[in-house]
Amino acid sequence: MANYYQLLGISRNATQDEIKKAYRQSALKNHPDRNPGDPEAEKRFKLISEAYEVLSDEQKRQLYDQYGEEAARGFAGAGGGHTGFASMEEALRTFMGAFGGGGSGGGSMFDSIFGFEGGGEGGDSFARQGASKKMSLSLEFEEAIRGVEKEVLLSNYATCSRCSGLGAASADKILSCKRCRGSGQIHQTRGFFSVTAPCPECHGRGKTISEFCPECSGQGRIKKKEKLSIRIPAGIADGMRIRMSGHGDAGEGGGPPGDLYVHIQVKPHEFFQRGEGDDISLELPLSFSEAALGCSKTVPSPRGRSCRLTIPEGTQTHKLFRIRGEGAPDVNGRGISGDLLVRVIVETPVHLTAKQKELLESFSSLETDQNSPRKRSFLDKLKSLFSPS
Ligand SMILES: [Zn+2]
Ligand SMILES: [Zn+2]
Repeated sequence: MANYYQLLGISRNATQDEIKKAYRQSALKNHPDRNPGDPEAEKRFKLISEAYEVLSDEQKRQLYDQYGEEAARGFAGAGGGHTGFASMEEALRTFMGAFGGGGSGGGSMFDSIFGFEGGGEGGDSFARQGASKKMSLSLEFEEAIRGVEKEVLLSNYATCSRCSGLGAASADKILSCKRCRGSGQIHQTRGFFSVTAPCPECHGRGKTISEFCPECSGQGRIKKKEKLSIRIPAGIADGMRIRMSGHGDAGEGGGPPGDLYVHIQVKPHEFFQRGEGDDISLELPLSFSEAALGCSKTVPSPRGRSCRLTIPEGTQTHKLFRIRGEGAPDVNGRGISGDLLVRVIVETPVHLTAKQKELLESFSSLETDQNSPRKRSFLDKLKSLFSPS
């Protein structure tokens, strides 16, 4: 068996405050009212109470340190003698002592130690909300922009239809709990105090079931596959989340159901890219002559329309054209939309034929500084860098 210090998880030179603190924590965790029907917890509770009883008394502690358990045990029992804390009564008395004793009788002190909410766990209101679920849903790029209706398959706990969630084979199989007489709480006198705790027999429900519903085996709910249609609003973006209120597991004891959270993933598109916000960008390759002479182009919009775009002559590569309102719509339905940003990429011609080369060479011989202002300005700066001033 572990020694008293180990039982409380403290060092041999722990102060009285440390001993008390360690015992309180450990005792609350192992208290029989917190662990109804658990003989291990009961044993631990008795042992740590015994340890505290000895170590909290400096005289007994000294004896224990010097002569060990046997000597100290003789002092532990109030009656003086044999086996330390054989009875729960003694352990509970120690427990009450460690929490200040004195003061108010009744349940209030005990309630505040355990943090019971008034009426929350006891009585008839034993309602619990069902678990919330999350799932991810993958969308095509266009579906996210234009909105879509998606059907998903859920596997949730639903209220059992045979027993309406009561868990009993029939209404007359639900009995008032004998132990707590239906109140869900038990009152016990411990030492000087009368304390109130949830009934361990019915776990605070106040009712017991003599014959369970054969459909749900008394659970009151049952796993059920269900198809759910989800309306995805136009303009939704990757990483957004939709909350489907009430589509999680059914609640228990009349509690509300949980929610379903749908995490949206949008697949990347071949042409379109969505950045921050509702603007969508598109790269449009142009040939060298198209960019130089100007042209008219039709570009697709992610909303399924064709947009006419006029490229003026002398357009430089990477120039950005903005087509208003052809980006993603506002997902909150405020009627405003992002823009379509068309970035032109001028492509230098490759795989030239002999004839094309000839033409480009004669073009080249006619080129002047005026044709390439950017190149000229660069060369001018370069010259001034190398010429002595
Ligand atoms: Zn049922
Ligand atoms: Zn009961």
